[in-house]
Amino acid sequence: MGVKEILEGGKLGREEIISLLEATGDEKQLLFRKANEIKLQEIGNRVHFRGLVEFSNICGKDCYYCGIRRSNSEVQRYNVTDEQILDAARFAHENGYGSLVLQAGELESPAYTTRIEKLLKEIKKLSKGKLGITLSLGEQVEEVYERWFKAGAHRYLLRIESSNPDLYQRYHPSDTLHDYARRLTSLKTLQRIGYQTGTGVMIGLPFQNSGDLADDLLFMKHFDIDMVGMGPYIEHQHTPLFQYRHELLPIEQRFDLALKMIATLRILMKDINIAAATALQAIDPLGREKAVKVGANIIMPNITPGKYRNDYALYENKPCVDEEPEECKNCLDVRIQLADGEIGYNEWGDSKHYQKRLAGK
Ligand code: SAH
Ligand code: SF4
Repeated sequence: MGVKEILEGGKLGREEIISLLEATGDEKQLLFRKANEIKLQEIGNRVHFRGLVEFSNICGKDCYYCGIRRSNSEVQRYNVTDEQILDAARFAHENGYGSLVLQAGELESPAYTTRIEKLLKEIKKLSKGKLGITLSLGEQVEEVYERWFKAGAHRYLLRIESSNPDLYQRYHPSDTLHDYARRLTSLKTLQRIGYQTGTGVMIGLPFQNSGDLADDLLFMKHFDIDMVGMGPYIEHQHTPLFQYRHELLPIEQRFDLALKMIATLRILMKDINIAAATALQAIDPLGREKAVKVGANIIMPNITPGKYRNDYALYENKPCVDEEPEECKNCLDVRIQLADGEIGYNEWGDSKHYQKRLAGK
């Protein structure tokens, strides 16, 4: 079946999804237009901001793709102070961002759990409950997720990275800390506790094909996920996966594939929140805006204090590392307008899918 027929027809199974992901030329443009149309119909043209605070690059894990993995001794490790995190939260609140994302390397300890719990309560207090909070702090035991939920976090992002256990295994060391089953259980636990649950994958990884990516999208659908953040894989020289760089799609094609993933997901899951990943902007300065045109509705401006941004290098060529938060916001305002979007200031912009899921629809 051709792309046009697939877009007109009802069923989107594995084969149809693969065809969409492999579309080129006019067919690709049809896909993009359809995704944009669905987004405008289902959730409107409003884009919501999540101020992103990458508060520490200290990580106990050793994922083979990531520049801040534990074994990379070239990284200068940092940990932003609580006061600086609260300043960033104030900045987000005062600038009408609506929500904040706290992201960091993965750590598990009682002291860490308490630190995050206290920060969550402080952020709720300083914003009089107005700032929505998303966490992206990796795998934790149920009790920890529960404490953070009670302290005020209501969304959690935990990418499955690749939904295929065999592939997952190839991107991670073989030990209990990097076990696929543990990641999946964590995701289920988050959903059960009541978080708006987000996941995602990297696109254009070595060993991955369009069939795997189609399976990733179907995984999100079957899991009934509320939000997705997914972006291109970008190699980092101080990581084990770097040795496969010659097998990768050229970077522009990875970018293009990421846009097709976003567009296809929007057609598959009409009412979820889809973030325009920062990695898109690392490849194309207008990458996130392009994602908004093909189905994304969330942007995460980086509000990490400027001097630390360089050191949160998950991949190379990370954008905006020299900017202070204020500059970042200005450049974003202009660019969103370019993409015909309107910014939903001072709103949480919760996933409609989550609201319906809660109401039992
Ligand atoms: N430590 C937490 C959150 C920070 S990492 C966690 O792992 O869940 C956030 C995301 O960065 C990861 O989920 C991964 O998908 C992405 N990432 C890591 N290395 C990357 C790379 N080289 N290219 C693109 N994305 C990468
Ligand atoms: Fe740590 Fe997350 Fe990077 Fe894995 S992806 S090494 S958990 S920061």
